[in-house]
Amino acid sequence: MAHPRTEQTLVIVKPDGIQRALIGEIMKRYERIGLKLVGLKMLVPTEEMIERHYLLDPDWKKNVGEKAIASYIQKGEIPPSNDPIAVANSVVERLKEYMTSGPVIAMVWEGAHAVELVRKITGGTEPRSAGIGTIRGDFVLDSYSMSDSDNRAIRNLIHASGSVAEAQMEIPHWFTASEIVRYRVPHEATLYDQDIRSILS
Ligand code: GDP
Ligand code: MG
Repeated sequence: MAHPRTEQTLVIVKPDGIQRALIGEIMKRYERIGLKLVGLKMLVPTEEMIERHYLLDPDWKKNVGEKAIASYIQKGEIPPSNDPIAVANSVVERLKEYMTSGPVIAMVWEGAHAVELVRKITGGTEPRSAGIGTIRGDFVLDSYSMSDSDNRAIRNLIHASGSVAEAQMEIPHWFTASEIVRYRVPHEATLYDQDIRSILS
């Protein structure tokens, strides 16, 4: 089995993250925990790339549609439809408009528990309720109530893979194998080597 240090995850700085001049701030947070940047590109995605990205997981529509319907009901509002797939389709349409509105930066970060740690640092999907100290909690204020009433995607600065399986589907969607760079950084010895006696040698 591969060592945990080889786990990889996909992060996308969304168009609002670039417009807000938060590229360095966002990258710093993943870098400082000890993760290693192994892939990086800037591009303006096409609608097709975004649609395919969100449909890589066949259950995504159902999950997001059910989550969205539950959140309407919790707020005491009537969902636009009771069919999770129909609700998810309108979420995808809004995401296409949002994600193709300007340049994004796609990145692959590598290290132990990369998927889980990047999600922890990034924070919950809705910035309004995302924890203090997370990127979405600290740098932006959007809410489902505001984005839904304005008929647009929620502006939450970042996409981050939600599970190891999702990362394994998403990374090849954005990067070819040759765009992922294998290299070492010296601090990996301190993070991962079993034997640290060499410090005093
Ligand atoms: P993420 O992994 O934290 O980005 O969240 P998801 O994968 O669950 O959702 C992806 C995107 O779909 C989010 O960034 C939102 O733009 C949108 N989305 C997810 N859940 C909801 C919801 O309950 N309501 C609305 N309006 N949009 C949602
Ligand atoms: Mg997700």
